Amino acid sequence: MGSKTEQKFPGLGVAPGVVVGVAHVRESGAITIPEYCLTPQAVDDEVQRFNDAVELARRQVRMLGTKAKTLPDAAAEEFEILIDAYLQMLDGSRLIRGVERRITDEKMNAEFAVQSELNVMAAQFAEMDDAYLAARLEDIREVSYRLIRNLTKTCEQNIGDLPEGSIVIAEEMTPADTALIDPAKVLGFATVIGGAEGHTAIMARALSMPAVLGASGLIKEVRTGDLVVVDGDNDQLILHPSEKTLLRVKNRQELQRQDASRLHQLADLDAVTRDGTRVTLNANVELPIEMDNVVEKGAEGVGLLRSEFIFMNRSTLPNEDEQYEIFKNIVGRMKGRPVTVRTLDIGGEKIAPALVKGFGESAKSALGLRGVRLSLKQPEIFEAQIAAILRAGAHGPVRLLIPMVTTVAELRKTKEIIKSVRNKLIKRGIQVADQLPQIGIMIEVPGAALAADALAMACDFMAIGSNDLTMYTLATDRTDEQVAHLFNPLHPAVLRLMQFCIEAAHRANTPISLCGEIAGDPTFTAMLLGLGLRDLSMSAANIPKVKQRIRELDLDAAKMRANMIMGQTDSGRSAMLLDDFNALAS
Ligand code: PEP
Ligand code: MG
Repeated sequence: MGSKTEQKFPGLGVAPGVVVGVAHVRESGAITIPEYCLTPQAVDDEVQRFNDAVELARRQVRMLGTKAKTLPDAAAEEFEILIDAYLQMLDGSRLIRGVERRITDEKMNAEFAVQSELNVMAAQFAEMDDAYLAARLEDIREVSYRLIRNLTKTCEQNIGDLPEGSIVIAEEMTPADTALIDPAKVLGFATVIGGAEGHTAIMARALSMPAVLGASGLIKEVRTGDLVVVDGDNDQLILHPSEKTLLRVKNRQELQRQDASRLHQLADLDAVTRDGTRVTLNANVELPIEMDNVVEKGAEGVGLLRSEFIFMNRSTLPNEDEQYEIFKNIVGRMKGRPVTVRTLDIGGEKIAPALVKGFGESAKSALGLRGVRLSLKQPEIFEAQIAAILRAGAHGPVRLLIPMVTTVAELRKTKEIIKSVRNKLIKRGIQVADQLPQIGIMIEVPGAALAADALAMACDFMAIGSNDLTMYTLATDRTDEQVAHLFNPLHPAVLRLMQFCIEAAHRANTPISLCGEIAGDPTFTAMLLGLGLRDLSMSAANIPKVKQRIRELDLDAAKMRANMIMGQTDSGRSAMLLDDFNALAS
């Protein structure tokens, strides 16, 4: 606006809608550096905390490095040199060694140790009065501030307390950062790093908050206080929007409001196809604040409660009582409709510091100690969570869902723990449901999908996690925007695995649902119903759209089209066949 020229930053629109607001750039603002003296016993933990911050910084810098490839040639070259310099600095440089020495010998807390080492280096470089060294100092400063930010988790405090009408602009938002956003204040967000299928994107959709991820150049150009537009429908962030752009945005917002109110009228109607087939539509929930929307959008139950979010953004573990109160509250809000609580699924991009301590890289890897694997390694934490879920089961129907299952043995072990925890609760005179809850498993590992016939006989229900099933089948990181074009649930390999699971479940008479992101995308509804699914769980915001699609569908036609798609070997052709079918029916 005014004298400033409009500038567009293309990215991935991961949550639909368009909003105008005031930018809050997460990188800005002074950081308050805590200063305290360590006891001798606390030194080892502090060194570990520092090493974790260094490791996180390496990961952040490497991800920034991949973005460099998308910049114009000259800029990319310069950026790559910088990234190399940062990585070298994070690898046993004088800065890192100096900080470790200050923590161990001088018993300084890590943040203060970084600041002190930086101050000393800055003073020495200044004495040398050399232009090259002055530039090097800027790099050291940049790396030091990154470390301090990681140590103080500055972003978390910033995001939690923003003025109304804000739009968050950040280099990266982890799922834990996103969980801190107050939807009453923040209208949308945009980042430099991030893929469309990661949990940050899922959270944005769950909060109905337009978001654009993977947009290069934002941090350099956007300043806190600038007017920006997040356009999730057109994959872009617009800086300094012109009057004409603002008018267009206003018109689109009005149309979207009309659409929403039309869809709202479906809330009390059943999800039933034209020929009378009933489909269950449940909600996926990450945070208790989503519950208002779950009830309002007419969800028939909670099909997936991602309990790991209770463990994020805190350095201590929530105890059994605290978890029980949260589950009880959600069960109460559903007024007799079933709630499926998934046990902890930490690992990969979902990090909870108190849970991964001591497990090193494995607990942060998508192929390591993720989900039930991590839970079985820490039986006391697992038992406390299961106790909380079983106690919540005394207040309404609750089911237990186990993530990242690969073998029947993992399921068997988990069942034993559940039974033993239940017996202990009963012995202590604590109220639980009369029956053992139903115990289900996520099918999200290709090996589990291929063994679905065996797993179906050993559990009470199955839920296809199409997000991870796609990621692991196609070896495509769901959080990496560089490979987003390869993440394709219509790939024949993914479709065949899903079909095999659905048929195996039907043969075993084991109920099966799907709770990945495609459940909430009306483009896929005909395909999923055609494959035999009758139970879908999705972000509450998507329930009305999917219900509308179901109500206009003819099941026989959907089955025939799904069959035709299963005969294809090219996912592009499958997408076309599905699009044609959707266009015909609407
Ligand atoms: C999935 O993988 O499809 C799923 C629903 O689980 P999450 O997205 O939490 O990994
Ligand atoms: Mg998953």
